[in-house]
Amino acid sequence: MNRHGHGSPAPRARALESAAGQSWTEQLKHPVNTLRRLERFIETTPGEREAIATLQTVWGTTPHFAALMDPRDPACPIRRQVIPSLAERENRYGRPDFLAWVEQGAEATPACILKAYPDRVVFLVSDRCASYCRHCFRRDLILCPGRRPRLEREEGLRWLREHTEIRDVLISGGDPFLLVDAEIDHLVRKLREIPHITLIRIGTRTPVVLPQRITPGLMKILRGYHRVPIWISLQCNHPREITEPMARAVYDLLSCGVSVGNQAVLLRGINDDAETFRELHRRLLTIRVRPYYLFYCDFAPGIDHFRTPLEKGAELIRDALQGQITGLAQPHYVVSTNIGKIPIQARERRSRAGRSCRLRNAEGKTVTLPRIPD
Ligand code: SF4
Repeated sequence: MNRHGHGSPAPRARALESAAGQSWTEQLKHPVNTLRRLERFIETTPGEREAIATLQTVWGTTPHFAALMDPRDPACPIRRQVIPSLAERENRYGRPDFLAWVEQGAEATPACILKAYPDRVVFLVSDRCASYCRHCFRRDLILCPGRRPRLEREEGLRWLREHTEIRDVLISGGDPFLLVDAEIDHLVRKLREIPHITLIRIGTRTPVVLPQRITPGLMKILRGYHRVPIWISLQCNHPREITEPMARAVYDLLSCGVSVGNQAVLLRGINDDAETFRELHRRLLTIRVRPYYLFYCDFAPGIDHFRTPLEKGAELIRDALQGQITGLAQPHYVVSTNIGKIPIQARERRSRAGRSCRLRNAEGKTVTLPRIPD
């Protein structure tokens, strides 16, 4: 039992019961974003309490996701993705200017449009998330309004209408599914009316952290045969995140004619061991989600404690998946850099020496990244 007596069986049972019965809007009205609320679900450690009290950071999650936390294990993979850590004070490998660095090659566009490739863009439509992932740089954009892009959706739509070279739009944020149904309906309809747009992708973590969001109302907006298909990318990083409500949410999305893939992030101590990694990919297939990408942890500041050596993800795909699980479950492993996403192969290990490594993209441009020790 912790010092407040929370995290003990009775309040936890009540918290779990209440989390299970809430709609998506109720879940968002009762975020688990204070120590007091967190301690209804778990026994916090002194380190977690100090980090919450002292770090200037946005944090929090939904009651659904908090209910998946192990109440007594500080190494629980859900806890580590949600609760601030004192390790965030350290920054040896992250770039303080990560966002500017990674967007260096992007063309000048409205602030809500990021264009790093000739025919596809990211369209930022929301600055909120249901759960603020500790390994994601976006949580700090939410904290610093000065660095947050202006999300003028109509301006973005206007720009997209004028740019006939764009075929593929990734709707992102924050989390686009935190918009209300009418806003999502408007966006999807307006994008589908643009003749040169042939593909809409949506990046959302809601089926994982807020599966209640996949409501009949949202399904009605997404459903049906259309000229422009919708592909949804989730982010599920650990098999413990895969629950019955998530499986149901995915099924509901698929039943609308939407395709669903996963973009996991490789996280030290969370999914970087062969057994967990294989189990994650196996279970994703059982709930009909195709593993699409495995991302190396961004070179953003304050997340060194999640970093593995760069080649680790390729080694995991080779050693834990290839030959042991269908090719359907084998993601592309990439790192995001200032010259775009670069695929990493397991053979990178052969050149593992020194304090940095140089990677080359498909156009022959190179980037030098720090070498992370085992
Ligand atoms: S990973 Fe997605 S859901 Fe998590 S904080 Fe970043 S933008 Fe939000």
